[in-house]
Order: sequence, then structure tokens, then C-alpha cells
Amino acid sequence: MVESRIGRTNREDGNYFQSGAAAMSVASVGVPSRGGLLSKVANPFSTESSKRLYERSKRVLIEGGSSSSRGPVNYGEYPIFMERGAGSRLYDVDGNEYIDWMMAFGALPLGHADPEVAQAIAEAASSGAHFATATEIEVEVAEMLQNMIANAEVVRFANTGTEAVMAAIRLARGFTGRPKILKFEGHYHGWYDDLAVSSNVVPTATMGLRSDPVRIPDSSGLNRDALEDTVVVPWNDLVELERTIANHGRQIAAIITEGVMANMGVIPAEEGYLQGLEELARKNGIVLILDETVTGFRIAPGGCQEYYRLNPDIATFGKALGCGLPVAAFVGRREMMNKLAWGGVLHYGTHNASRIGLHAARASLRKLNRDGGAGFRHMWAIAEQLCAGIKRVFERKSIPAIVQRVGPMFQIMFTKASRIRDAREFCSLVDRGAYQKLSHKLFEFGVYTSPAAGLHSIATFAHSREDVEFTLKALDQALAALEGNR
Ligand code: PLP
Repeated sequence: MVESRIGRTNREDGNYFQSGAAAMSVASVGVPSRGGLLSKVANPFSTESSKRLYERSKRVLIEGGSSSSRGPVNYGEYPIFMERGAGSRLYDVDGNEYIDWMMAFGALPLGHADPEVAQAIAEAASSGAHFATATEIEVEVAEMLQNMIANAEVVRFANTGTEAVMAAIRLARGFTGRPKILKFEGHYHGWYDDLAVSSNVVPTATMGLRSDPVRIPDSSGLNRDALEDTVVVPWNDLVELERTIANHGRQIAAIITEGVMANMGVIPAEEGYLQGLEELARKNGIVLILDETVTGFRIAPGGCQEYYRLNPDIATFGKALGCGLPVAAFVGRREMMNKLAWGGVLHYGTHNASRIGLHAARASLRKLNRDGGAGFRHMWAIAEQLCAGIKRVFERKSIPAIVQRVGPMFQIMFTKASRIRDAREFCSLVDRGAYQKLSHKLFEFGVYTSPAAGLHSIATFAHSREDVEFTLKALDQALAALEGNR
């Protein structure tokens, strides 16, 4: 019998597949023919070693790990413990092999253990990790960013997306002398207090009116006044944005937005929306912060800024920049960034501009940009092929589901709607439980997609056409297995 984690610990119950659907052996539905692609898969699928490790880990770690999103809320009874990665593949502690479409929450644009990046890391590590002063690699990667990103007149490195965003917000407040920040429902910008509001999936009845959204804290323990100066607006709605800006007069220091909404699946901006948003910010003296933590070094060499022809004041980056190591950056106009100089807006960090991380970043950016940015074109093409195939599978099986995609980023949504445009639609129209059951079932067929409906999957430089074909076959069989258990 397969060790079933599906349906037992899911928070939500999907309509499309019944709970407990995995309680059948993979052998009885047939392991997909791996065509020599995947070499080692336990048959029947077993994650017993992960289960044992989880029991052990709970004695020293909360929920068995270092972030709740890696624990039971997304994985069911216990997470799968991974041991190593190579290219598009991940290998767990039981010896199961997976095609990985999650790619470390988007931190691996070249896939796992890219040889050029691995060599750069090894070389940097062997000559010293940290010198507590300036280094040439810092200048060199900053110059690369300057060449790639239109608004990057000046660069400042940090370690995580959260840190880059925190600094950008402080800089915007310092520069404008205004107190308020405007963010959008369903956008996640890290776990900084001032922005930890209305990011999560919640029942729509708790969200209030579009014209006056209820601000819903994402966490306990926030600074008492943290949300006082945070204004929340539904995304993809210029009318509400304009009205809100008018209501708050000249109090708003910054508007922060993702270029593609990437923390409730994948939700693209409506035609002209981001440009309209930029115009409103400009007209009202508001700093526009484009959070490219997810989209940077993925959508285009210059990110969403290039793809949507935007001109933000500040752009923040993380994830893909460090190619698996914690490297982040915020970039912007010199006039504004100059306020970071000593005595102005404080931004420190022992590990800012990690030497090893920046060597990884340089190797990765070189590879992605080679042959006129062929790496970016490859990621787009793979995602396009995969998503077209996924749609065909759903159509053939008459399953009411859609795939939303922008470039290499995509997410499956179980919904009868033809598209999802904002957080309210995502929360009310998407069956997240059905998605989670599918993602868990796909593990058994050698495919690792994000186990949370609110996250998304990503094509990388390491994925191949064969990976696409294998994944489509696995999807077909995973759906059949789930349907067989209804
Ligand atoms: N901004 C966006 C758009 C994100 O998706 C995330 C993380 O997922 C962050 C910021 C925070 O980045 P980090 O997890 O590196 O702190």
C-alpha cells in the first residue's frame, strides 16, 4: 500500500478529487513508463525514510523545518526530505527521483547544481568567504545588473527579498518624507511587519468591499502600529487605485507591486494596468517599487520592467539572482539611492553582497545571457510547451481547470472560471484542495510541482522537452489515479 499523505491532513477539501484518494498502490494504476528518463523510483512509491526523518526533526525543529511553507500545511502529514539535485532532477532520501518544477521557490534559474555555478562557488569558497570590506566581484555583478536592468543606475546588495523590500520601503519614506505605503491584496513581499497584511488566502467574506478592503494581518505578533500606515487596494483595478490615492492625499510614500502576481498562483496584469499604475504614482509624487523578487532574471533579462516597459523608481530582486544562494538587491535612480549614504537612510547587513553568493550570481547571469539571452528563450519555450500540453490533458478529460502563465512561471487552477484576475477571484473561485491533491499525487509519478495552490511552478534552463513529455504523461496518470478513487 502506498503511504498516503493526501487527503488526511489537507486543510481544504477539493470538489474534484475525494479525500484519501491516494490510498491505493501506484502499481495498481501503473507507474508511468519512464522511457529511461528517470532511473530510480521506488515501486510502489514509498517515502518511509522521509517519514522517519520527520519524526526525528520534530524534536529539534518546528514542523520539521525552517519555514512553515515547507511543512505539513503544504505537504500533508510530513514533507519529503530531499537529498540532492542535478539539472532538472531532485532525489529524495528514499531514492525517488523527481522532475522538479518548483526549483527552490524560483531560486534556481539554471536548475540544480549547474556545473558552472558549482565551480564558481567552489573557487570562491576556497579563497575566503568574507573580507569585511569592498570586493571587485561586488562591483562586477553590480555592473552586470546595471547593463541588464533599465532603472539600475545604482545597486545595493542584500541577502533576501524581504530585506531588499524593507530597505526599499525605508528609502521611499526617507526620500519623500511621507508615512504611508500602498500594497495590493494577495501580493506577498516577504515577512516585514509593515507589509504583512492581506497577503494570504482568506474567505472572501472577511475581505470587505473592494472600495474599502478590510486589512487582514498575516501574522500574530506584529508591531502594534505596523499596519497603521499601510493602505491595501485590490490589484488590477485602476479605478480603485486612483480613488484610494485621492483619498490619502499626499501621504503615500510608495506603491509596491509585483509585476506578475505570483503568490496566488500566477495572475498577469491586465492590459495597460501596470503602465496606468506607474502614471498614477508619477503624477502624485509617489515612489514606485516594483518587487521583482520572483520575476527578476526570469521573465526577461531586465525583468518585468523590460517586458512591460515600466520605469519604476526602485526595483527589488532576490531568488533567481543568487542561483540558490541568498543574494538580493535593490536598484534605482541615483538621486534616490544616494539617500542610503552615511547619515541618511540606514541599510546595513553583515552578509550583504556575500562574496560566494556573488560569484554564483555572476556565473549564472553569464550563462543566462549567453547567445543573446538564449537561456530566457529556452525557459519560455519549455513553459509554453508544458502548459499547452497540460491544457490538452484537462480538455480531453473534461476537467474544469485552467493554467495561467507568464513566461516561465505557471500555475494550474481548478476552477470553472476562464481566468483569475485578482486575490478575490483566487480566494472564491479556485479549488485549492483539488490542486494540492494533484500535486501530492504527482510525487508518486516522479513529478515535483509546488504543493501549494498559492505558489507556482517554473521552467528553467535545465528543463528539456523530454521533461515536458514525461510530466504530461505523469499528469495524465495522476489524474486517472485520482479519478479512479472518487
Ligand atoms: N517579494 C516577493 C514577490 C516574493 O515572492 C517573496 C518571497 O517569496 C519575497 C518578496 C520575499 O523574499 P525572501 O523569501 O527571499 O525573503
